Amino acid sequence: MSSTDGHDRADLGAPELVEVSDGVFAYVQPDGSWWINNTGLVVSSQGATSIDTCSTEARTRAYRRAIAGVTDRPVRLLVNTHHHGDHTFGNYLFDTATIVAHERTREEMLAFGLPHRLPFWDRVDWGDLRLDPPFLTYSDAVTLHADDLRCHVRHVGTPAHTTNDSIVWLPERSVLFSGDLIFNGGTPFLLMGSVEGAIDVLRQVVEPLRPATIVPGHGGICGPEAIARTLAYLEFVLDVARRGTAAGATPLQAARDSDLGPFADWLDPERIVGNLHRAYAELAGLPRGGRLDIVAALTDMVEYNGGRPLTCRA
Ligand SMILES: [Zn+2]
Repeated sequence: MSSTDGHDRADLGAPELVEVSDGVFAYVQPDGSWWINNTGLVVSSQGATSIDTCSTEARTRAYRRAIAGVTDRPVRLLVNTHHHGDHTFGNYLFDTATIVAHERTREEMLAFGLPHRLPFWDRVDWGDLRLDPPFLTYSDAVTLHADDLRCHVRHVGTPAHTTNDSIVWLPERSVLFSGDLIFNGGTPFLLMGSVEGAIDVLRQVVEPLRPATIVPGHGGICGPEAIARTLAYLEFVLDVARRGTAAGATPLQAARDSDLGPFADWLDPERIVGNLHRAYAELAGLPRGGRLDIVAALTDMVEYNGGRPLTCRA
């Protein structure tokens, strides 16, 4: 099942490099489900900046070919929005780039390592990956310049999707690369971060920017309406967690007993179970981003999924 072009699952549709503003691109990979992310590209006379890479070798190589179609300049900067492998495993294919990220992104990426065996997902052909973590790190924020265009890279200040999320904001263009704070058409995933933290970040950091264009971590390019939709889901998770805790139900039971309602047709709905594991732990006093039993949560997600591994079409 080796793929050379990164999108041999024909029914998913081909990834597309879309110019969202002059010299600013979003690389959108359908369908945005598990391990199929979006990246960004900002082109300047000094070279290109990539925001994240892809999960598999084939997908990142396809991304590189798409970049070559819009610029002959090398990628000199690479920003990772967080440590997850769907955004970072392809880093090593950009060996001309300085890799920049929040200091905890580097730590978490080194701690996780390469995907030796991830039994919770369908088998993936990762290709020949090498770990290439960020080696220029910041604690709060850093500004990148693409000629006159400023790109504000900012840690969101609290655990949210993970412990180390950053956004990339282009104020002159009102374009936001949100990383996985926003999934458009997919279910948000907070197991490794914080449900309450994600709500705070969307309300206090993302919403006040009033972005005209959002390039989400997964799913199609969207506008600010995606912020409200995500908040509605996160509030729903907290509500189910409060009721489940009060009723003495486990996260898995609480998930099974609840109707996903307007969120039922979002991709990867089993994330509700992982999100509830996190929400339960937070209600019980675990600090945001604190360690919990990830394996137990993923096992419950597979259970909720009818015992089948989680879909991975990367
Ligand atoms: Zn992701």
